[in-house]
Amino acid sequence: MTAPLERVTRLIAELRLLPVDLDTLYRRQNSLSPLESLEVFLTEEQRLRTERQNQLRRRKANLPIEKTLDTFDFGFQRSVSKEQMLRLSDMTWVEQAYNICFLGPPGVGKTHLALSLAVQGLDYGYAVAFETLESLMKHLKIAEISKSSQHRLKYLGKCSLIVIDEVGFLPLTAAEANMFFSFVSSMSERTSLIITSNKGFDEWVDFLGDTTITTAILDRLIHRCEIINMSGNSYRLEHHQPIIG
Ligand code: ADP
Ligand code: MG
Repeated sequence: MTAPLERVTRLIAELRLLPVDLDTLYRRQNSLSPLESLEVFLTEEQRLRTERQNQLRRRKANLPIEKTLDTFDFGFQRSVSKEQMLRLSDMTWVEQAYNICFLGPPGVGKTHLALSLAVQGLDYGYAVAFETLESLMKHLKIAEISKSSQHRLKYLGKCSLIVIDEVGFLPLTAAEANMFFSFVSSMSERTSLIITSNKGFDEWVDFLGDTTITTAILDRLIHRCEIINMSGNSYRLEHHQPIIG
């Protein structure tokens, strides 16, 4: 006859529940009624599930690195205020599917701030995703023949917040610009986009190639949008770190 602990542990595995550490859980709680005992178990099971979902959501977000506002030097970057970023950190704009565009030259902190809001979104429990425009275009172009791109696009469709980084670095073909328009259009008013771009809106036609499609994309994007124009010197260049030794 196997011990109850062994039998319950086996049942947990067979029922595909998460491996609650029964030993630790009940060691300090030996005078529980059967119902209280069940409550302790289910509460722990629920905690493990939430923790696992959060880890999965973070993995799926695919952030290149986690950044926070705490490490952002607002003294160096004066074109955006800490108050403005703290206000946006309440993430209420995600509920209203507002967009945010960070515009400015390289190194001024656009991606850092976009990532900070993405991290905050994850902490608040939203489904979040990070793509560069290049990686997004790749998924859109090969979705017909690539299961993983199909899955990624399906996931993006379920997200509340998507960061599209480095918009404007590479010129798009007419077909790509159309795909980008369809994507922005399909997200419009249901998913928040955070866009970072090294080009001002008046220069978008340079990489999108066509005035009509540029106007159509900007129209969807800017309709409900906070535009943050950033200027100044590159933090990378000013804080250049040589190898020591
Ligand atoms: P951009 O996207 O505008 O090119 P990034 O956000 O990638 O710039 O910034 C480049 C690097 O410098 C990153 O490591 C980022 O964390 C850092 N950085 C940029 N601006 C600041 C700032 N004001 N305070 C602290 N770190 C910054
Ligand atoms: Mg960047």
